[in-house]
Amino acid sequence: MTSWGPEPLVFFFGQGRADGTSAMKDVLGGKGAGLAEMTNLGIPVPPGFTISAALCGTYLETRSFPPRLRPAVEAALGRLEAATGKVFGGGDTPLLVSVRSGAALSMPGMMETILNLGLNDASVVGLQRMSGNASFAYDSYRRFVQMYGGVVFDVPKRLFDAPLERCKREAGVTRDIDLPVAALQQLVTEYKDLIHQKTGKPFPEDPQAQLWGAVEAVFESWNTRRAQDYRKLHEIPDTMGTAVNVVAMVFGNMGEDSGTGVAFTRDPSTGARELYGEYLLNAQGEDVVSGARTPEPIAKLRDRMPEAFHDLERVTRTLERHFRDVQDLEFTIERGKLFMLQTRRGQRSGAAAVRIAVEMVDEELISEEEAIARVPPNDLNQLLHPAIDPNAPLDLLTTGLPASPGAASGAAVFDADRAEARARKGEAVILVRRETSPEDFHGMVLAKAILTARGGMTSHAAVVARGMGKPCVAGAHEMEVHETPAGFSVNGRSIQEGEWITVDGATGRVFAGQARLIPPELSGNFSRLMGWADKRRHLRVRVNADTPADAHRGRDFGAEGIGLCRTEHMFFEGERISAMREMILASDAEGRQRALAKLLPMQRTDFEGIFRAMEGFPVTIRLLDPPLHEFLPKETEEIEALARQMNKSVNEVQHTIEMLSEVNPMLGLRGCRLGIMYPEITAMQARAIFEAACTVAARKGRVQPEVMIPLVAHVVEFRKQALIVRQVAEEVFRERQLTVPYLLGTMIELPRAALTADEIAREAQFFSFGTNDLTQTTWGLSRDDAGVFLPAYLERNIVESDPFITLDVAGVGKLIAMAVTLGREARGDLKVGICGEHGGEPAAIAFCEAQKMNYVSCSPFRVPIARLAAAQAALEERGTMIRTRATV
Ligand code: ADP
Ligand code: MG
Ligand code: MG
Repeated sequence: MTSWGPEPLVFFFGQGRADGTSAMKDVLGGKGAGLAEMTNLGIPVPPGFTISAALCGTYLETRSFPPRLRPAVEAALGRLEAATGKVFGGGDTPLLVSVRSGAALSMPGMMETILNLGLNDASVVGLQRMSGNASFAYDSYRRFVQMYGGVVFDVPKRLFDAPLERCKREAGVTRDIDLPVAALQQLVTEYKDLIHQKTGKPFPEDPQAQLWGAVEAVFESWNTRRAQDYRKLHEIPDTMGTAVNVVAMVFGNMGEDSGTGVAFTRDPSTGARELYGEYLLNAQGEDVVSGARTPEPIAKLRDRMPEAFHDLERVTRTLERHFRDVQDLEFTIERGKLFMLQTRRGQRSGAAAVRIAVEMVDEELISEEEAIARVPPNDLNQLLHPAIDPNAPLDLLTTGLPASPGAASGAAVFDADRAEARARKGEAVILVRRETSPEDFHGMVLAKAILTARGGMTSHAAVVARGMGKPCVAGAHEMEVHETPAGFSVNGRSIQEGEWITVDGATGRVFAGQARLIPPELSGNFSRLMGWADKRRHLRVRVNADTPADAHRGRDFGAEGIGLCRTEHMFFEGERISAMREMILASDAEGRQRALAKLLPMQRTDFEGIFRAMEGFPVTIRLLDPPLHEFLPKETEEIEALARQMNKSVNEVQHTIEMLSEVNPMLGLRGCRLGIMYPEITAMQARAIFEAACTVAARKGRVQPEVMIPLVAHVVEFRKQALIVRQVAEEVFRERQLTVPYLLGTMIELPRAALTADEIAREAQFFSFGTNDLTQTTWGLSRDDAGVFLPAYLERNIVESDPFITLDVAGVGKLIAMAVTLGREARGDLKVGICGEHGGEPAAIAFCEAQKMNYVSCSPFRVPIARLAAAQAALEERGTMIRTRATV
């Protein structure tokens, strides 16, 4: 190997440097590394070799290989011949191989594989003689030509299906394995003709030519649209490239004592510790996942082939102990003997991730820290997802396989393009297909759930849905899906495109219409894991809650306070809006005060409820923030009613409304500017807050109000507003003969506030970063208008991600970091937090941890995600510290 130079291009399984370490994964790809590692562990794997992924990039640029590759591959082929006792291209004892893609990060089903390579008109005869089984030999040949034509020559795959279906019809059989030899031979000829006719090139008989064609096609498959889409979604760098694996064939299609299957070492939906999977007898390659035949559950294999099953169980245990994680396996049984063809980290649902992590701690396979690190915070979403309310009336259509948990409702759409189009318009859609294939990927990404008529628990639809954490019901075989008009019929009912359905991926049930959903149960493994996380995190996690109901939900999810209570939401409900409108349209301070007096008791009641729900945890209340015109009536009838109520003319009211309209309300009269213009509003809100605080405190309840002044740009704005709040607080405390400790702080959401954070911090006791507005004002980008061009920016790679979703660390983050430093220099005990949707986003949380913020605040459903992400960030920081120390 060393004679090839410093960087070998070809690695034989289990020899040389081939192992499963992550450095080698970059070169070998996940599949190659797994095969090498299994070989090292003494697990039965057919011999083979891997061509380095390092070649992929240059091949795609130059469409050529370095000269030293060819001899290296020839040497490896020679070794493969020696290991198998067969000859590549030999007529008597032909060596057949599979040529398989495999990148460092698994992209299931995204790239190409070719089986039975090395067959031609001569070697097929040898294969027949060797196996004594003509049907097997020609079935293999038929599959090879078909796959090669599709993958290497780009002949549309469906063109191969029509002749196959016709041959089955003519032979009077329904399964391809029942085709007579003559029909298979006929198919081989037809397929070759088809390829010749479509490409103008004859099918290559020379195995060497076949091999290099296949190797190139595998590298090419790195850049298909679906592979690119997949990488985008999973944030896999385009530069990584795929390796190519060349593996000696073992045959699952040799008869009823052979078969092929896929297995998980634990149940990927529930996490239960039992071998889970499916297999098919007398089958090869993708038969199990293609949905063409319905596979049997793996438990049945115990009776069919006890020995192979026993071996599989033993391999499972070895692999779990070795990798200390759930493995997703592919295997083939050739005449009773088991061969492993792939192992990789098993994808799992959120529920399974939690259960597996916790149980592996109990089994002493991993530590509590590892368990925390293993659950992707966003996957908790699935556990937190609603389920179908069992007490609600349901209209059951059919039941399929429970392929990926969670429940969802949406319009049934029968085509990926149409699903994409509708979903982009904001519609909830459920993608319904006979079976999905990688071409449907873009529609699956945007659908709320996926429903298929065919395929098993490991079908394409099921695997992809679980990976994305979407509900999926697969193999609902009673359903008949038709294209024109698009719809499905089932049990005498029919659903047309656009009609609403509900799917329950936890039970496999499919309902007509929109079913009532209920929140999930959070206990057991989930609460143990969260407990471990809570012990290790530094950041407090608060909830954004505007109502007592949201506050309670936040508490149930473990929130330790409210980081953002938006008071304006309280003004929209019922009769409140009319009092609010009256206040806005009043012609003088007195009129405003009259209207505010009506609002005061309502606000007070809201705050009491929220303080009680928070049981003494801090509650940050933001004073009125949005532009006033948001509250104003738009319809003529509403304006007339308001005029009557206020004893004013319609014209007068209309005039005021026009006066209040702004060209750019986002940068207009809003935030603390309102309080500056109408100090009565600030005074009323402060009174409501402190009266409520005193009422709750008087009944021995602990209360920690934190009054937050929004949209401050200049310290004097803050000073003026703070003065009013303090005065009112004093008044109320005097009246009630009671003092409630409180904090007075501001939102940092304008660049000027961040730039002058030291001045502001001398007067403000806390900062809360309003990252939505801060992003908007830092970028000079209106969130409401960005929808027009931001997608193009993403498409053209001008920005990597939507800054309103993923915190822009380089820009907005720099302002935040600066404000934290300036602020803390001015006031050592400045409390710092973040609110807005970024507060629940794991990457942003890691950023907040690095800034040593005190807390993050997010919407109720994101609270558990934030707790886990905060623990991971803390462990990561500690790990980095330990690593840094170790290298010093
Ligand atoms: P994917 O990445 O799409 O899973 P693979 O390279 O794993 O593609 O190949 C798909 C299937 O083809 C495997 O699960 C296995 O059943 C079959 N296969 C691949 N290589 C061989 C081989 N050498 N012998 C027998 N079957 C094989
Ligand atoms: Mg595979
Ligand atoms: Mg704001």
